[in-house]
Amino acid sequence: MGRILATGAAAAAAGVAAKKVYDTKKKKDEIQKEAVEEAVMKRRDYTGRTAHFIGGGLASLAGAAYLIRDCKFPGSQITVYEGMHILGGSNDGIGTPEGGFVCRGGRMLNEETYENFWELFRTIPSLTQPNRSVTEEILNFDHAHPTCAKARLVDRDGNILDVRSMGFTQAERMRILKLLRTDEKELDDVTIQEWFKDMPHFFTTNFWHMWQTTFAFQTWSSVFEFRRYMNRMIFEFSRIETLEGVTRSPLNQYDSVIRPIEEFLRKEGVVFKENCTVEDIDFAEGDDITVTRLHLNHNGETETVELGAEDLCFMINACMTDSATLGDLHTPAPVPQKKPISGELWSKIAAKKPGRLGNPEPFFTKENESNWLSFTVTCRGDKILKKIEAFTGNIPGSGALMTFKDSGWKMSSVVAAQPHFPNQPSDVTIFWGYGLYTDREGDYVKKAMKDCTGEEMLLEYLHQLHIPEEEIAGLMETVINVIPCYMPYIDAQFQPRKMSDRPPVVPEGSTNFAMISQFVEIPEDMVFTEEYSVRAARIAVYTLMGVNKKICPVTPYNKMPKILLKAVKKAYL
Ligand SMILES: Cc1cc2nc3c(=O)[nH]c(=O)nc-3n(C[C@H](O)[C@H](O)[C@H](O)COP(=O)(O)OP(=O)(O)OC[C@H]3O[C@@H](n4cnc5c(N)ncnc54)[C@H](O)[C@@H]3O)c2cc1C
Repeated sequence: MGRILATGAAAAAAGVAAKKVYDTKKKKDEIQKEAVEEAVMKRRDYTGRTAHFIGGGLASLAGAAYLIRDCKFPGSQITVYEGMHILGGSNDGIGTPEGGFVCRGGRMLNEETYENFWELFRTIPSLTQPNRSVTEEILNFDHAHPTCAKARLVDRDGNILDVRSMGFTQAERMRILKLLRTDEKELDDVTIQEWFKDMPHFFTTNFWHMWQTTFAFQTWSSVFEFRRYMNRMIFEFSRIETLEGVTRSPLNQYDSVIRPIEEFLRKEGVVFKENCTVEDIDFAEGDDITVTRLHLNHNGETETVELGAEDLCFMINACMTDSATLGDLHTPAPVPQKKPISGELWSKIAAKKPGRLGNPEPFFTKENESNWLSFTVTCRGDKILKKIEAFTGNIPGSGALMTFKDSGWKMSSVVAAQPHFPNQPSDVTIFWGYGLYTDREGDYVKKAMKDCTGEEMLLEYLHQLHIPEEEIAGLMETVINVIPCYMPYIDAQFQPRKMSDRPPVVPEGSTNFAMISQFVEIPEDMVFTEEYSVRAARIAVYTLMGVNKKICPVTPYNKMPKILLKAVKKAYL
């Protein structure tokens, strides 16, 4: 017996050693291949060639960075056109201590699943820490400020719920399993509600309340996306009640993510045209997809840009914060009257190449389903934050998300580590909240969230926290501003759809055109993430430029026995 054990151990050790040798060799091969590729790129002649990015969001900035970093394309031959006065798109964050700060959204990053995001930002210098990359800066900050939510769900009586159990019935577990085993081809147009249609209890489980509000699903969202999240976020499923997997940036993502990459690109000579909307795109006659001209509206003047066959065009074909509006303490955020700019351009070009550039219709026609509202609170001093801290047991930056699960608006809040803005003084504090059901009445403020001022949103919030009435006026006196933000298409990428509605990143027959956004099809990956835009940009650049380098694959956590075992245990708790 002893000998058998000894022989077994020796064999195992030999196996480990062999794998090490194999891994080292693989790594060496990869490095060698990359060096060869680098040399090939350096020899390429880009004289006279130009690259054009429509939209100044993360996808375009990442695309420009890949062109420069991996293709050695000259920055000065790249132009980014942005309809707004500022770059960054949905990754926004702006304000003053006097007028109040606003982020339309707050991003929870993820160390495990944002493979290309971390890889790209490893080569983008931090603006605040010399000799460090953005990736190092964010991960160092996050590791020093770990997340562990102590008040993830709160009920109507103000009780913090024990949410370690997901609360599933056996039938619900089996239905989720069935979904994971169902081929996506069978899920065209199916909503989450329809998949669980005979199971109303599912929508009352701890799991649903947490999963819904962590990722912003609605019951009417596409089951495609729900399924992708279950697969891709399986790692997070077993710790969803504490959100320990959430990675936080030191400041809001405009300052922590966008500004460093913008700075990098500016130094490389990239040209940025703000207040410049691309209103139409012309394609060459024939079956191929070759962009020949862009029609711009730049500061109110119309312009055209001609593209030759060797030039490149990358388009953010839709934007989740398109047409978003802001209110203030005394004014609700208005419902916009104009059509979405990005959706309009996508519709125009899709009609020019029927069936080849996707179909924007399911995403941009049901504003009543795709909208929700956020609000950013700015205060003098930290009286309100101290109340939240006393209630949750989480110091700012450690709690991720708290949801009032029974609230009419399905309201949640996030208190980031302070300061959250570079120009935020130490005696000013901010936090962010949102509601998913904007047509419903609040429990204290008897109005639809959509019709509420910032002040009313905060009042509803303080009542959900069960702050005694006599303390509320004193807390409200500390408020500088509450800025509500109405986002008509924020959930557009989750709307029910057919598989064919999202175009591939590089459409068939394209010679110089790619689409890079949350509205393109990338098998296995999940939308409403920074990673999706970066991955799309990398696929686009590598495909059109013929780059022979690896794109970080989607990590198959859903096939790893240890992670699966943890998930099963969690589902049965
Ligand atoms: C409330 C909220 C919460 C979020 N939470 C998370 C999260 O927790 N984790 C996470 O990873 N991600 C999150 N995101 C998503 C993340 O911010 C986006 O996925 C990402 O920013 C998308 O980048 P993009 O470049 O593809 O598009 P966008 O950032 O939307 O940029 C598109 C840009 O293109 C411009 N544009 C569009 N059409 C035209 C045109 N025709 N001409 C000129 N300009 C045009 C728009 O003005 C816009 O600036 C959240 C977003 C929001 C709003």
